[in-house]
Amino acid sequence: MELVWKIVNFIILFGALYFICRKLNLFDKMFGSRRRGISKEIADSEKAQAQAKALGDDIERARALNEERKAELMRGAAEQAEINSAAIIASGEEEAKTLISNAEKSEEQLMEEMRGRVSAEAVRRIAEITGQVLRKGSFENSKQALNEKFIEQIKELVSAMPSDILTMNELKKLDISIKSAEPLSEEEMNKLTQIICETFISCHNEVDPELIGGVRMQVGDTVYDGTLSHTLDRLSLDVESNTRQSDKEMRSIAEGIKNQLEQVNGDIDVFQTGEVITLGDGICRVSGLADVMAGEMLEFKGGLKGMVQDLEKDNVGVVLLGPFGHLQEGDSVRRTGRIIEVPVGESMIGRVVDAMGNPIDGKGPIKNEGFRPVESPAPSVLSRKPVSVPMQTGLKAIDALVPIGRGQRELIIGDRQTGKTAIALDAIINQKDQDVICIYVAIGQKESTIAGVVEKLRSFGAMDYTIVVAASASSPAPMLYIAPYAGAAMGEYFMYKGKDVLIIYDDLSKQAAAYRELSLLLQRPPGREAYPGDVFYLHSRLLERAARLSDEAGGGSMTALPIIETQAGDISAYIPTNVISITDGQIFLESDLFHSGVRPAINVGLSVSRVGGAAQIGAMKQVAGRLRVDLAQYRELASFAQFGSDLDKSTRDTLHRGARMTEILKQKQYAPMNAADQVIEIFSAAEGYTDDLELDDIARFEAELVDYVNRSYPELRGEILSGKKLSAEQQSKLRACIESFKKTF
Ligand code: ATP
Ligand code: MG
Repeated sequence: MELVWKIVNFIILFGALYFICRKLNLFDKMFGSRRRGISKEIADSEKAQAQAKALGDDIERARALNEERKAELMRGAAEQAEINSAAIIASGEEEAKTLISNAEKSEEQLMEEMRGRVSAEAVRRIAEITGQVLRKGSFENSKQALNEKFIEQIKELVSAMPSDILTMNELKKLDISIKSAEPLSEEEMNKLTQIICETFISCHNEVDPELIGGVRMQVGDTVYDGTLSHTLDRLSLDVESNTRQSDKEMRSIAEGIKNQLEQVNGDIDVFQTGEVITLGDGICRVSGLADVMAGEMLEFKGGLKGMVQDLEKDNVGVVLLGPFGHLQEGDSVRRTGRIIEVPVGESMIGRVVDAMGNPIDGKGPIKNEGFRPVESPAPSVLSRKPVSVPMQTGLKAIDALVPIGRGQRELIIGDRQTGKTAIALDAIINQKDQDVICIYVAIGQKESTIAGVVEKLRSFGAMDYTIVVAASASSPAPMLYIAPYAGAAMGEYFMYKGKDVLIIYDDLSKQAAAYRELSLLLQRPPGREAYPGDVFYLHSRLLERAARLSDEAGGGSMTALPIIETQAGDISAYIPTNVISITDGQIFLESDLFHSGVRPAINVGLSVSRVGGAAQIGAMKQVAGRLRVDLAQYRELASFAQFGSDLDKSTRDTLHRGARMTEILKQKQYAPMNAADQVIEIFSAAEGYTDDLELDDIARFEAELVDYVNRSYPELRGEILSGKKLSAEQQSKLRACIESFKKTF
């Protein structure tokens, strides 16, 4: 019962409490604030959400703006690129002009900035970058124009090469491939197919974006290239080779680039290609190149030149004319269609060049008048004239005993260190003011020796009319082989212009050795002394180019003084006998004579000149006749005289006279003499005026005598040089002169 009351009381108390609370609105007070807090939080979160959305919109807007700006920039760049490339490609003169004037403006700046030299690497980079820009550019119209131009021009150019006809005959089919930067339209393909269909059969188009723009068509080995990438390659190669020549001259580089730019007009480049199949020792074999000619110049990677030597059925043997370290098997080779040629012209005079005609004297590029093939046919019999004008060497022993005429080929032969080069140099030095152009071809000599020769020539003022062609011992064998032909080509330029040329080949033994090396590498069968069978032709075709031309053919002349080195005086070896038989005489130098002090060490018995006598001046012929007889008798007796002591008077006289004559013929190096002075000296000895002199006094006597005669009988010099013989009156006048001098000596 008590529990029931307790429950009733609790219910009543709870009811009263609830009533009071309701009356005072206490519930609302207790829970309302909480509800409001919750709804405020909800509102806050909604606001934050809206703010975040606005921020997101802002970001989106900014991004869109950026995109737009970027697109604008890209458009601008593309337009710029299009303008640039259009200026290069389109032949529109306006654009070209602005381009050039822009180039000119920046040229000065460029030169300011690039004080140093432009490296080939830099040029290649520029071409690469230009290529990239062009590749990105969207200049559809220009590209289209290139395609149209190609189709238009190809009509005239496409023709079946002999090799194509051969292939078609054998295989009844010829493969024609067309590459283009973009697919050719049906109409364009139709046009192309129509043009070539009559001659060639299958034809397909392959797309290569690397070509940038334009079309490249290959028929057999022949390529017809009108693509931008090819033009750029050629351009960079050209500029590169220009740069190599003009390290010092920034202006001429800029000029070169400008000229090249002007020439870029999307013309089609037609050439045949091949591929290197084997390579080694400066020799390579190339497949393809079906129509290549013997002796033709080929172009390898990096501008390296090569010369075709061997023509075989499916490949050709090529000698490489330069450093070939960068070359690899599989590299492509390009035909040039030209025989190896060298620069020629007046501006070559005074220069030192290599076998390809490139200057190596550090005096900048040569502005040559043109090129001449290194190999060219010798003048025919009909365009020649007999030798009749003397080529004075200034050496008494030669001018008196083995006279050389203009257009003659006279061999200088002897062991090493017998004064061969000395004779050649004296001959060059003696051409001063003679209106003769000299060419000294140094083959296989040390570079220091060549430098010494150049220095000597320069110190005597002989470089004013001399060209030095140098293929030193360190040059590759092909250079030694080509150098004499290069020199001959440079000489021919002057000869056909009616001038007189003196050319020295120092020496041809080294050329023959270089040719032997080449031939063995080309696996030609070796013959006598391991030389190839055609080594005679090597020298004969070179020396036949020396000639005296008839007036109709130009009237000039080229006198050749080839030098051959013998081993221990053996002139019957292979190469010496060859060259002796080719030339018009030889000057034979002997070691023994040289060491006994007879210098120039000419063996008068073995030396001959087969045509020069006709060219000797009259007075010299007169006095030299006696000299020859005296010397011949002396030589005969001198060897016997060594054994006997008691000789009869006439023998003693002959020996006495001969010794004096030999003394007269001695001559110092670099002291060539005027022909008139030579006549006076030999005359005095032949007339016996030196018989009573000591041998040691003869040189001094002669020098003073010449001086005296020239002073007291000055007209004589002109009379002798006029070419006539000395009259009895002139002779007696000269005798009187010598006698009066002798009284004072
Ligand atoms: P190489 O076989 O080495 O080419 P080379 O036969 O051409 O020799 P040179 O170099 O002309 O001979 O001469 C050899 C040396 O003889 C040189 O030191 C040269 O100065 C000297 N010599 C040559 N001719 C004379 C001369 N007429 N009088 C004095 N010395 C001379
Ligand atoms: Mg020499």
